[in-house]
Parts: sequence; structure tokens; C-alpha cells
Amino acid sequence: MPQRSRAKAWVLVFLILFLAVVASVSYLGWRQTVPGVQSLSTPPRFLGQKTPFTVVLEARRGNVTQVEVRVAQSGKATTVAKQEGALGRRVEIPVVVDSAALGLREGSATIEVWARDDFWRPLRRADRAIAGHSVTVDLTPPKIELLAATRYLSPGGSGLVAFRVTGAARTDVSAGPLVFPSFAFGPEDRGARVALIALPWDFDPAVSLAIRATDEAGNAASRGIPAEIRPRKFPRDTIEIKDAFLQAKVPELLPQRPTTQPLVEGFLVINRDLRRQAEDAKRRISGTTADKPLWQGPFVQPRNTKVFANFAELRTYVHAGREIDRQVHYGYDLASTRQSPVPSANKGVVVFAEPLTIYGNTVVVDHGLGLQTLYAHLSSTTVKVGDAVEKGQELARTGSTGLAIGDHLHYEVLVNGVSVTPLEWWDTKWIRDHIGKPLKEAGLPEISGAEARAEEPAARPAPRPARRRR
Ligand SMILES: [Zn+2]
Repeated sequence: MPQRSRAKAWVLVFLILFLAVVASVSYLGWRQTVPGVQSLSTPPRFLGQKTPFTVVLEARRGNVTQVEVRVAQSGKATTVAKQEGALGRRVEIPVVVDSAALGLREGSATIEVWARDDFWRPLRRADRAIAGHSVTVDLTPPKIELLAATRYLSPGGSGLVAFRVTGAARTDVSAGPLVFPSFAFGPEDRGARVALIALPWDFDPAVSLAIRATDEAGNAASRGIPAEIRPRKFPRDTIEIKDAFLQAKVPELLPQRPTTQPLVEGFLVINRDLRRQAEDAKRRISGTTADKPLWQGPFVQPRNTKVFANFAELRTYVHAGREIDRQVHYGYDLASTRQSPVPSANKGVVVFAEPLTIYGNTVVVDHGLGLQTLYAHLSSTTVKVGDAVEKGQELARTGSTGLAIGDHLHYEVLVNGVSVTPLEWWDTKWIRDHIGKPLKEAGLPEISGAEARAEEPAARPAPRPARRRR
């Protein structure tokens, strides 16, 4: 081999070796710089008595092989969760911090997440926390002080609870599974809250009524409401469903139904499913309510109307001599002349004005604190959502839209979407004794027209049921 060729070969060999070294070094360098396990979750900002949360981690390459969650306070760290093995690329670890068991004191602490992956790197990294989060340990539950409450409650009736809460992020009043929101009320420095509550018509007196408060650390406090539940009887009625009614109403209310479906079956879909949808809608609409009372004094009833059906009437539906369904009627049916004006029962804001399944054209007026009135089967509506209305102002005209036999107004009073008897809110004395009195006992400002007075002015007579219509 000539001299020059040999030199060339050496250069080539050297170059290849050089490139191999460069490639290996950069490969090893890349391996070394691949980031470790990343923390994808944000732990809570507060630790209470017992705080559950989930730590989510992801390995950039390879699998997570070790995870440890520690709580550190005053230089002392305690492991609260640990997992080892081939845990996968993405790991979710449930953690519960039991502050008492860990001997945590109120104040600041740190949640540390330690993790390791199985991705090979030339130089093994020293173990260190991949995430550290500052938290505040708060072990003091909120304090609830019951100021006053409506003493006597009845199924299908309303009441008021006044209380003071300190150190809570969320407070509500519950009647079993039903939850009623509470609102700041009165002078700010008193820190008082009020909630209107309602018992459903079929309320079981064994179910607890309670104020519940929770702080940001999840510490909860609860306080029972010492109310006496007075039983109330509700009427029963039988409604005969005629074929002419089915012919008129079923196609109107179920335009999508198969034409082969018998009318009675269509009626049952309307009476059950559409009725339930309307109930859900009432609960939804109740979410739009003013945080202060808009109403003043007793609620008014349209003039010259007769009551044709009562609140919480248990109705048995009969067709062709056979019982086909049972449902509860949630309002009062009031009738006078056709297309007569429908006045707003009190001052408020229109929060709903559109067709609502069995109720036909419907208007809902919000009176604040979760109290609302509903007007159904309307032939036409003269207000729109957002309109502020005065007591007695015309909202609409009566009609027979929806599941109605004949022109009438279906009127309901709702407390956070739960139907209650309108009788209580038509009655000045009832409002004074059941809403005004607890406010006075709590030392809170009165709601105009609900002043608890010592003397007993003549109560407004309750409307008496007349002949039934539907
Ligand atoms: Zn009705």
C-alpha cells in the first residue's frame, strides 16, 4: 500500500472512531438530560382533620418505579403514601392525610412528592422531591350559632332559619337530602345568615333538619334545628280522563310520538316523564335567585278567582273506568273568566318565561332568598326574563296550554324549587309569626310586611276550596 493511501485510511478510521465517540457521548448526554418524573396534580391548599387528595405523576421515558408522598412540618417529614414496582408511565395515587395521627399542628406545612423512574441514565441522580407544595394545616371546624328558627313547620310548608357562622367557606341548611342555600343578612359586623327552608308535602318527621358548614380544609360542623313538625292532611281527588281530552292534548304535548302508540300510553309518558322534567326544571330555575328579599308583605291572589284544586292533592287518574296513574298536584288551580289577567303575587324579577312541559306557557317570578312563584297554563305572556315586576303587575293571561282541562291559572309557591302551600304566603299573620318572628328573635332587620308585632290584627281568611275542575 502506498504511503498516501495508508494515511488516508488512518484518517478515515480516526474519523469513524471520532464520530462513534461523539455519537455515544451525545446519546449518553441525552439519556442523562431526559427529565425525571413530572407531577401533574396540584395538592390541596389546606389540610383539615382528614384530607383526601390524589397525586398524579407521569414519567417522560420509561415507567414510574417509586413514589412517596411526605408531609413536612418544622423540619420533620412523615411518609403518608408510598408505592414501588413497575407502576406504569402514568400513576394516580390516592392519599389521605390524617392530621391528628401525624401529629400535625395548625400552621404551615409542606407536601413533598418524591418519585423515581426506570429510565437508564449514565449517572444515577440523587433522590430529591420532584414537587413541594405549601399547605396550611387548619384543624378548627367552623362555629355555628343558631340565632332563631321557625318553631312550627308542617309538611308542604315553609320556614326561616337565622344563624351565625365563623370560619366557613360554605354553609347551607338541609332537610334530609334537600339543600337550601343561605344568604348573608343584616349588618355585616353581625355576620348573620338566613335561609328559607321548605318541607316537601311527604316530609318524614324522622328526617333531620340541620345547618351545615364546611371550611376550605374540609372541616365540617353541623347543628340541628329544633323545629316541631306538625302533621298536615292533604286532599285526594279522582280525575277522569276523557277520550276527547286525550285526543286534544296528547299530540300537542308529544309531537314526536309514534302515531301507532295508543293515546293512553302517550298520556302516561306526559303525566310521568314530562311531569318529572318539569320538577327538575323548577330545581334548576331556583338557582337564579336574589341574595336579598325582594318581596314585601303578603302575596296576593288574582281577584275574583275560585279555587278548583288544592296544594298536594293526591290525584288518581281514571280512564274508561280503570285507574291508570297517581300523581301529586303541586299548586292551586284558580279560575275566573277566560284569558283573565294574571298578577304577580309579589314584587320580584322574572326568571323564567317559556313553555315548560305539562305546565304549558309558564312564568316564574323570583322574590329573593330562593322564594319564587310559578304561573302556568298561560295563553299569553306580557313579561320577559329579567323584568322587574311590582306586586299585582300583570304578567300574563290565563289559558289552557299544557296538561290543562279548561282555562285556569295553576299557581305555585316554590322555596329553592320545592313546592309549598301558597296558603302560608297569602296569610299576613302566618308570615309575621313564621318569618318575622324568628328574624326579630335573632335581632335582625325585618322584611317589610313581615314585622313581628305584639297585637293580633284580623287574619286574612284563607281561600276556600270550591268545586273541582282538574
Ligand atoms: Zn294545577
